[in-house]
Amino acid sequence: MSLTVTDLTAAYDRLRVLHGVSLRVDPGEIVAVVGSNGAGKTTLLRCVSGLLPPTGGKVLLGDQDITRLGAEKISGMGLAHVPENRLVFPSLTVEDNLQLGGWNRKKDGRYKERRDQALELFPRLAERINLQAGAMSGGEQQMLAIARALMADPSVIVLDEPSLGLAPRVVGEIISVLGTLRDERSLAVLLIEQNLRAAFSVADRAVVMERGGILTEGTPAELTDDPRVQAAYLGGSASTMAEDSVDRVAHAVDAYDEKRTSR
Ligand code: ATP
Repeated sequence: MSLTVTDLTAAYDRLRVLHGVSLRVDPGEIVAVVGSNGAGKTTLLRCVSGLLPPTGGKVLLGDQDITRLGAEKISGMGLAHVPENRLVFPSLTVEDNLQLGGWNRKKDGRYKERRDQALELFPRLAERINLQAGAMSGGEQQMLAIARALMADPSVIVLDEPSLGLAPRVVGEIISVLGTLRDERSLAVLLIEQNLRAAFSVADRAVVMERGGILTEGTPAELTDDPRVQAAYLGGSASTMAEDSVDRVAHAVDAYDEKRTSR
């Protein structure tokens, strides 16, 4: 199923934070949403998955209008949300966390099949199946958060900064699983990422958000040379940033991530 967002607006109380955002993700496609802190990326995701009712615009799952349906209903229709900060249940085992993700699938008799598929994607979880989730590393908890979302057998998955605070090698593993979900399971993947290098390494297209709107969009190759993307990240003006390469931006974002990780 595709995900189509049209002219979405959102606000917290009277503070308007999304000003007409439109995008589309087709099955077998990864679209990344990038942009600096406070651009509105998380708010966009929360509106899409029903956690925050938008003030205007539309969200379609396939051809069904899911705007304002609420998170539980939307998840039952095939859209899975992997929130920021990998919210797993720390005192429960990996197995129990997976069971909670797949509770509605137990009834259709395909629970074991889903579980096995999820563990095949993340063999590390299979090795830790009886371990308390809170005892695992941040990367493993992120894997569990994704595996748990997959237990609901979604056709669209939206992820909020899965790379946050993780070592580059683990980020690579997670990014590669997203590629598998696209290529082998034809999922539509909407990936929010501050880590440009990670996002651009797997995305088919990317949308750059700034101050609640879309600044520009294109393929990673197109955006890599776009001075507006660099300016959006580093806070300079597009003209003065024109000579900079995306490497400089990626370096700045990496350094920023490192700082956040070491806190
Ligand atoms: P980050 O990468 O830092 O998470 P973001 O691009 O995801 O940033 P959002 O979290 O969507 O941005 O925030 C967009 C704007 O809305 C920001 O100005 C933020 O301060 C504000 N905001 C976010 N959540 C709330 C809230 N619960 N109440 C009030 N304002 C909020």
